[in-house]
Amino acid sequence: EIRVRFAPSPTGYVHVGSLRTALYNFLFARHNKGKFVLRIEDTDRSRYVPGAVENLLETLKWAGLDYDEGPEKGGPYGPYFQSERLEIYNEHVRQLLENDAAYPCFCSEDRLTAMREEQAKKNLPIMYDGHCRNIPREEALARMKNEPHVIRLKVPREGMTIVDDLIRGKVSFENAVIDDQVLIKSDGYPTYHLANVVDDHLMKISHVIRGEEWLPSTPKHILLYQAFGWELPNFAHLPLLLNPDRSKLSKRQGDVAVEDYREKGILAPALVNFVALLGWNKGDDQEIFALHELIEHFSLERVNKAGAVFDVKKLEWMNGHYIRSMAEEEYLKIGEQWLRKFELDTGDRQKNQLILKAIRQGLTRFDQLPEKTAVFFKDQLQFDAEALEWLQKTESKEILKKLLEALSEIDELSVETFGQIIKQVQKNTGQKGKNLWMPIRAAITGETHGPDLTIVLSVIGKQKVEHFVRQALA
Ligand code: GLU
Repeated sequence: EIRVRFAPSPTGYVHVGSLRTALYNFLFARHNKGKFVLRIEDTDRSRYVPGAVENLLETLKWAGLDYDEGPEKGGPYGPYFQSERLEIYNEHVRQLLENDAAYPCFCSEDRLTAMREEQAKKNLPIMYDGHCRNIPREEALARMKNEPHVIRLKVPREGMTIVDDLIRGKVSFENAVIDDQVLIKSDGYPTYHLANVVDDHLMKISHVIRGEEWLPSTPKHILLYQAFGWELPNFAHLPLLLNPDRSKLSKRQGDVAVEDYREKGILAPALVNFVALLGWNKGDDQEIFALHELIEHFSLERVNKAGAVFDVKKLEWMNGHYIRSMAEEEYLKIGEQWLRKFELDTGDRQKNQLILKAIRQGLTRFDQLPEKTAVFFKDQLQFDAEALEWLQKTESKEILKKLLEALSEIDELSVETFGQIIKQVQKNTGQKGKNLWMPIRAAITGETHGPDLTIVLSVIGKQKVEHFVRQALA
């Protein structure tokens, strides 16, 4: 049976790289009718962040990545929080101690620091020198009762460990440079390596799919599987995410948290679609995928080795595509929520919807609403050079005068009444097209481009339009 897991350490936000890992695991599970497990790796007590797990669950839900086993859902191999599995790790490490595959290490922090400094000076790999490796068993067990210690894995000094990766092929590591890694820390908590391997085994994970930054840990994990006498899972390491300058994706060059993109008004299906293409493609140039299409086409064979550039411009383009192609009703619903968020709700449903429809075409993020809708909410106008040029023309003044006259004959400005008025102005001035519309747009908005003018006018309303036109004529 195919069983995969997403195993985040809750840090308070979800990195876009984590979202990709979660997504690929999810897609692989769904495509193969397997199980997708969520396991919370929360044994590093120094990194505990309140609310981080809730935030993680909420973000996965937002993205539409539902899991089969995990927090709040349970499942046959729980608990799914590592902090609730401490006894399991301790039992397993006892087994390693008994088989002489692990040993207690009593070295003080001072000794280790001095050792590392010495190694650095001599340009040697920084790793444990094996000082406690050969303490006779009886003595070691006795000292464990009274002395602070960690438990280390007894890594073979010779030979190689080969990672046979589904994406990267065979990658070899010399055992001589693999550290006798700590399995249990001095506070009794397991390290990532131990807990991760024990859980992947006990949770019957068939494929470990994770970011490339974990590849150097994999030989250590393989040695642990061997020490336990367990069968290895399959490994698949996903390519790094890169900044446009091909450096490793970093906060310094842009947002890396899913929550940041969500707050900017990137839609979940757009972000998921975008992230899916960071290291995978269908084999042709299709770029727009609904989740069910990703499930249908996803395979690890089509995941690249090369790093994937995180191109925010492309994400925004894609989001614009989703904004334009979603059902209008859905668009208006989301749009109104954002109007409220920015306190741009006109209090009139119909007006809100007119505004939203008028700016939809050029919208690529919902947090652009204040800027894109500014034209509807101005009290004072700033005229740009082109607008001023239009307003200086005699013909323009004529148009605006006739517009004022026509306005005085109606009670209220709406899409319909403006339609009638503009025809009248056209007849009375003999102007049409650009020459007719530009002076009006310039007078009402101070600019020469923007959303549909009929809508702008009907939202602004008669009084304000009259006011602006008089100002332009003054
Ligand atoms: N807890 C690790 C993380 O935060 C899991 C890595 C793995 O998938 O093995 O990414």
